[in-house]
Amino acid sequence: MNSKFLDRVTLELNDIRDAGLWKEERVIQSPAGSQVKVPQGDVLCFCANNYLGLANDSRLVAAAAQGLKERGLGLASVRFICGTQDRHKVLERKISEFLGYEDCILYTSCFDANGGLFETITSDQDAIISDSLNHASIIDGVRLSKAERYRFTHGDLAELERHLIASKDKRTRIVTTDGVFSMDGDIADLKAICELCDKYDAILHVDDSHSTGFVGKTGRGTAEYCGVSGRVPILTSTLGKALGGASGGFTCGPKQVIDLLRNRSRPYLFSNTLAPAIVEASIACIDLLASTTELRDRLEANTMRFRSGMTEAGFNIRKGVHPIAPLMLGDAKVAQEMAKRMLAEGIYVIGFSFPVVPKGLARIRIQISAAHTFDQIDRAIAAFTRVGKAMGVIS
Ligand SMILES: *Cc1c(COP(=O)(O)O)cnc(C)c1O
Repeated sequence: MNSKFLDRVTLELNDIRDAGLWKEERVIQSPAGSQVKVPQGDVLCFCANNYLGLANDSRLVAAAAQGLKERGLGLASVRFICGTQDRHKVLERKISEFLGYEDCILYTSCFDANGGLFETITSDQDAIISDSLNHASIIDGVRLSKAERYRFTHGDLAELERHLIASKDKRTRIVTTDGVFSMDGDIADLKAICELCDKYDAILHVDDSHSTGFVGKTGRGTAEYCGVSGRVPILTSTLGKALGGASGGFTCGPKQVIDLLRNRSRPYLFSNTLAPAIVEASIACIDLLASTTELRDRLEANTMRFRSGMTEAGFNIRKGVHPIAPLMLGDAKVAQEMAKRMLAEGIYVIGFSFPVVPKGLARIRIQISAAHTFDQIDRAIAAFTRVGKAMGVIS
């Protein structure tokens, strides 16, 4: 191969390493769960999006096996050619019913759901107003649209309102926000955002990837938590986090919007359909969550135990109620070193630093699961306390 090209790539890799931004991938030799096997031995996992502990749930795995047996590996097609099974339709109906929408369209990821949304529903006559901390897939999706783009500082609703005023001559204004912001565990103030959207006749899109299935009293997500159920017209979310953790995503909305996406959305039209095993597991997952709130209730109790235990131990845990519990450390090296020492203590966590989070706000992002036992949570707090004292993070 052209050696100049490879030299350039090597230089870029060196820059990444020199800046301390190289991403090591730890290898796991077991299914996901509260405990996972890594080369160093069995460790407790506190950094997965496996919020409801369903990623290796025997009922979901059995449903997936049945899907595999009865419907094969996949459809070898996109939906509109020969990629739609009856079970895809069932899953779309169940998600719509569970979340209170007219219709739903499946994608192979939420990244694709966001990637195929904005370009399809807007043109240069429209405007999109986006929170500055929105997920990369929203940012990329918005980039594909010809609409005028506005960005407001994370959570700054006065700035959002100024953009709504500035864009008043546009045909349609779409306001887009994460329901929960993944690095902070912050929940968007959907009540106030809905009021602004009503006042200025804008359409709200929420990405509830870190909420669907467990945020809100019955796990319907941030709209339920914020008391605005039924007032978020367009919702995207993932099957790859709380809802089983395999992969897949979806968009919910009014029937006309979903029909337009089925006809025009490029990741849907030009990418393979969701695999039957995942479809079947997802149906079982939605049925389970519609029948009981037991898992999200346990997750809530686990989250409160961890957050209060760590705060009492003297740690700076970012305030909130979400199972994303960021331990704020400031310095990137401290975050890296602490994560390393925690692994030696049998606790698997990851340090996050610039550019994933702002400079000077390095942290360990701890994520709680319904699969954790109180004993495992207490062991994690005790290990953090030992390491925190040894490193001088707490006294
Ligand atoms: C994880 C995440 C996604 C991507 O979901 P995938 O289904 O894994 O592509 C999109 N948006 C948000 C807010 C997320 O947290």
